[in-house]
This record gives sequence, structure tokens and C-alpha cells, in this order.
Amino acid sequence: MIPYGRQDISDADIEAVVEVLKSDFLTQGEQVPRFEQAVCNYVGASHGVAVNSATSALHIACLALGLGPGGRLWTTPVSFVASANCGLYCGAEVDFVDIEPATGNLSVEALATKLEAASADGTLPDILVPVHLGGLPCDMAGIARLAAKYGYKVIEDASHAIGGSYGDKKVGACQHSDIAVFSFHPVKTMTTGEGGLAVTGDSALAERMRQLRSHGIVRTEMTRDDGPWYYEQQALGFNYRMTDILAALGVSQLSRLDSFVKARHRIANTYHSRLKDLPLKLPVVADASRTSGLHLYVVRLDLERVNRTHREVFESLRERGVGVNLHYIPIHLQPYYAQLGFNRGDFPNAEAWYGEAITLPMYPGLTDEDIDAVVSALEASLS
Ligand SMILES: *Cc1c(COP(=O)(O)O)cnc(C)c1O
Repeated sequence: MIPYGRQDISDADIEAVVEVLKSDFLTQGEQVPRFEQAVCNYVGASHGVAVNSATSALHIACLALGLGPGGRLWTTPVSFVASANCGLYCGAEVDFVDIEPATGNLSVEALATKLEAASADGTLPDILVPVHLGGLPCDMAGIARLAAKYGYKVIEDASHAIGGSYGDKKVGACQHSDIAVFSFHPVKTMTTGEGGLAVTGDSALAERMRQLRSHGIVRTEMTRDDGPWYYEQQALGFNYRMTDILAALGVSQLSRLDSFVKARHRIANTYHSRLKDLPLKLPVVADASRTSGLHLYVVRLDLERVNRTHREVFESLRERGVGVNLHYIPIHLQPYYAQLGFNRGDFPNAEAWYGEAITLPMYPGLTDEDIDAVVSALEASLS
């Protein structure tokens, strides 16, 4: 089975990890700050906070921005559940904004309409979490314009988008957001095994996130000084730390990130030219204002031109050895969210997306023969 995503591990990656294993510090050594600095340099951010997953990064990002019970977080239904769960972790209420059909990203038009209604009945969100689906940046300028008008904070869930760019900046520069979050799970564009990182231009937010990732403990600006052993817990934090073993892998992977993204775009170009005459809607991977990090390559069936159901096509591809996937099951349709009061029909564009989307294999190690196999399987499955 050709998987939909796969990591790319080099000898240099392995050596970097082994180095740390032979050193004095497996965690809380020099590698985590080194990785944070390297990511900041790459994306053009001022501060980076590495943690054990993007889920943890989203959680402490929400807390650092003051989200709590009585608060509200809005995100897109077409994402991984973690984009919404972070709001629930904080005791806040979660709601969704429907997508724009062309890209699957949160629709700024739908956002404007929903904000106007929320403003009228006093239910404006505190935090918006736009998700750069597949790695293609959302309309961040539009989101920031509405943030200035309605006063919400913005956390970019950039789990798919490291290596992508928006305007003349890399995703993560936080030009239009308070915080951006990356994931380094092995299917993502670069990996640390498990891992995540929050970047921000605000030093106070970075400091709060650093405190929260390690139990809420501080060693400076303490209220008293009992002696040289003394540290102080000032907030209820967590152990969300990244290990030095993984940070070293991250530094090594980051040095090849540009080549990963380039390889992904080369594969997307090949897919585009080989698939353009099939009854499919192909993804936007770049336009005048942005370039995708291309974590995912999601095609949608043009159902009016296909004589089979979405499920039949999906199953046929799997039977033919193509490990297709589906991004995403709309979050509001998950039983846990249905139980919170969401219903089928709430976000029609997201639900239509769910009825058409199929994620094709996309990773740097995908060979020309693999691409041939994917294209042949698609041709057979669609006819
Ligand atoms: C993968 C992913 C996450 C969670 O990342 P982890 O590092 O596995 O916690 C969050 N949001 C999106 C959109 C993702 O794809």
C-alpha cells in the first residue's frame, strides 16, 4: 500500500539523535533552545516555544491568550479535532465558521456574517483558530482586518503549513496573528516523531507559554527567595516539554525543509498535469499571494461527472493499493461535538467537502512509479 504520508529520515538525522543520546542531557539541555531559534530564524518569528505536540501548543496558546470558562473560540469544521478541542480544554465554548469551497479554508465572508450576528447578541469570540488546510495559508489579511474590528485574538493552526509562505513572509512570521502553531508528527512536512512549536512576536506571550509547558514553574521574578534550590509555581501548568533527542532531530530535519517542500510541489505539479482531465477538482497549491507547505494533496470528486459514489471510489483506491485518506470528517459531526449541540446541516460547505474529498499520497519519497500507480488507480476507480 502506498501511504498518504511518510517521513524522510536521513543518516544525518540519525546521527543528530545519537549525539544527544551520548550526551549528558536527554531533556532540558541545549537542543530545545537551539531548535526554537532555528525555527524562528527560518519563519522570521521573534519567539519560539517547543512542546511535545501541536495539540499541547494549541492548548497553552489559548491559555496564554487568557481563554477560560465563559470564553469563546471559533475555528473551522474542516480540520483535525485538536483545532477545536483546545478551546474545550480551557473550559471555553467552541463554535465553527464554514469553509470557502475553493480551498477548504475558513471563509472570511462567512466569518464576517457570523461576527456581525455575534456582535448584535453579545457572543463575539475571544479567539479565532484559522487552519491552513493542506498547507495553503488562509486569507490572513482578511482575518486580521476583522480581528481589528471585533477584537478577537488569532492563533494560526499551521500544523500543515511549515515551509509555506504568505505575501513576502513565511508562515509563522505572525504578521497577521498573535501566535502560530506547527506540528511535527511524522506525516507532517517535517518531523520530530511527536512534537509541536508555537511562535509569536510577543515576548510576554512566549514567556507565559514557556511557564505553562513546564508546570507553571518559574525561576525568575519570584515572590520570595528561600535559597539556591528555590523555584516557584505561579500558575497551573503541565509537562508539555519536548525532549532534546527530538529537538536535535528537528534541527536536522529543518535543514532539509526547503528540499521537502520543493519535492512536494514537484509531485503536485505532476499530479496536476496527469489528473487535470479526470472528473476531479484539484487543490490550489499556490497563487499570487501565497504558497502551500503542501502537507496534504486533497482532490475532490466532481460528483456530477462520476458514476460511482464517493465511498466506492475511496474503497476502490484502497483495494488498488493506494492508501488514500480523508481530510477531514467535519469536527461538528463527531459524536462528542454532536452531544454539545451541533447538527448535520450546520455547516453545509464543510459537509459537502466531506462528501467529495480524497487525500492522495504526498511525501518527498514518492517515486515516479508510485505516482503512475496512483494515477492509474484513479483512472480505473473513476470510470
Ligand atoms: C496534526 C494536526 C494537529 C495536531 O498535531 P499533533 O502534533 O499531533 O498534536 C492539530 N491541527 C491540525 C490541523 C493537524 O493536522
